[in-house]
Amino acid sequence: MTKRNLCILGSTGSIGQSTLDVVRRHPDRFEIEALSANSSVELIVKQCLEFKPKTVVLVSTEHAELLKESLNSLNLNNILVLSGEQALIDIASSSTVDTVMAAIVGASGLMPTLSAVRAGKRVLLANKEALVTSGEIFIDAVKESGAELLPIDSEHNAIFQCLPSLEQSRLGDCQLESAGVSKILLTGSGGPFRELSLEELESVTPEQACAHPNWDMGKKISVDSATMMNKGLEFIEAKWLFNLTEDDIQVVLHPQSTIHSMVQYKDGSVLAQMGNPDMRTPIAHALSFPERIESGVEPFDFFNTPSFDFQAPDFKKYPNLKLAIDACKLGQGACTALNAANEVSVDAFLNKQIKFTQIAEINETSMKKFVSDKVVEINDVIEIDQKARQFALSLISEGQIASVDIQ
Ligand code: NDP
Ligand code: MG
Repeated sequence: MTKRNLCILGSTGSIGQSTLDVVRRHPDRFEIEALSANSSVELIVKQCLEFKPKTVVLVSTEHAELLKESLNSLNLNNILVLSGEQALIDIASSSTVDTVMAAIVGASGLMPTLSAVRAGKRVLLANKEALVTSGEIFIDAVKESGAELLPIDSEHNAIFQCLPSLEQSRLGDCQLESAGVSKILLTGSGGPFRELSLEELESVTPEQACAHPNWDMGKKISVDSATMMNKGLEFIEAKWLFNLTEDDIQVVLHPQSTIHSMVQYKDGSVLAQMGNPDMRTPIAHALSFPERIESGVEPFDFFNTPSFDFQAPDFKKYPNLKLAIDACKLGQGACTALNAANEVSVDAFLNKQIKFTQIAEINETSMKKFVSDKVVEINDVIEIDQKARQFALSLISEGQIASVDIQ
C-alpha cells in the first residue's frame, strides 16, 4: 500500500488532534510531512516527538523561535521550523505532500487552503470559512486544478456519503437534479441554548456557549453552533460543495445529533448517514476514501439511544441562521462580510466585550454595509474581509450597538 503524505494545517486544534488520533492508529497508511499551529508551542512539541514531521509552521517568528529551542533540546533539530503565512502556503502545496487537512479556524485558513487546492492535492476541508468567504473562486480553483475535495464537516461528509459515486467525484460541479435528488436536509442540534427563551439568551456566558451538548469542538465553532451561525455557514458551504440553489437546502433541527444530514430523492427515499457524534468518523472516511478504516469511534448502540426528534428552526431565536441564508441569496460580498464580522463579534463575545445577542446585531449591520461590494478575484475577498473586520471592530469600540453590560 502506498502511504499518504499528510500536511495538517491547524494540527493543535480540535480537528487537528482528532486527525492525528486517526493517523496514530494507521502507521502503515499515513506519513506526517508537515504540521502547523498558531501559538500552541507545547502541544506541537509533543506532536513532533510522536509523529516526526519534516516541517512545522507557526504563525509568528517568536513562537517559531520557542519551538526551535524546544526541539533542539530534544535532539529533534532535523525538523524544519518556519513561520508566517507564506510558509503555510508553501507546505500546503509542497510536492512532498499529497493530502492536506485544512483545519485552521476562520478566514486565516483561506490562502493556505486555496494553495492546496491550486496545487491539485487531496484536500480534506474542515475550514468552512475558507469556502464561505471565497465561494466561486474556490470552486473554480478546484475545477481548474483537478484537486480532490472531500468534506470533513460532519453534515457535508454525511451528504457526500449519501450521494452516488459520480456526484462524489465532481464536488463543486454536482448535477443533483439529474441524480434524482429532490432536497438536501442539513441537520443541526440547535446548540446548548435550544430550550432558552429570547430573554434568557441575553445573559448567557461564553462558558455556557462553549459547552455543546453533543460535540467537543474549538471555541469559535462552539459559539457559532450556539447562535446557529454554524448552520448558516454550512448552508453556504453546502451550496458550493454540491452546486445547489438556496431552495434545494432545508435546515432541520435534530437535537440528538445522531443523524448527521440526509439526502431526499425524487422517489421518496431519504438516505441518512448516522453514528455517534465524533469527528473521527468523517476524518477517517475522508483520509482513506474510498476505503474504510478504523477511527476509534465506538460502534453505535441502537438499544441505548434516545428517540430521534426533528423540528423546524425558529429564526427569531437564531437570527444568525437567517442572516447567513439571506447572505447566500445576496451574493459573495454579503457572505464574505458576514463571515468576517462574525469572527470579530464571536471573539468579542468570548472576551466578554459584548452580549451573546449582540453577535447578530454586529453581523447584520456589517453584512448590510458591504452587500453590494463586488467579488471578482481573490484580492476582492481579502479587501472585503479586512474592511468588514474593521467595521465590526468599530461598531464594538464606538459602542454603536445597544449598551453593553457584561459581568
Ligand atoms: P480550533 O480552534 O480547535 O483549532 C484551530 C487551529 O487553527 C489550531 O491549530 C490553531 O492553532 C490554528 N490557528 C488559529 N488561528 C490561526 C491563524 N490565524 N493562522 C494559522 N493557524 C491558526 O478549531 P477547530 O479544530 O474546532 O476548527 C477548525 C476548523 O474546522 C474550523 O473552520 C471549524 O469551523 C471546522 N470544523 C470543526 C469541527 C469540530 O468539531 N471542531 C466540525 C466541523 C468543522 P493554536 O492551537 O496554536 O491556536
Ligand atoms: Mg458541521
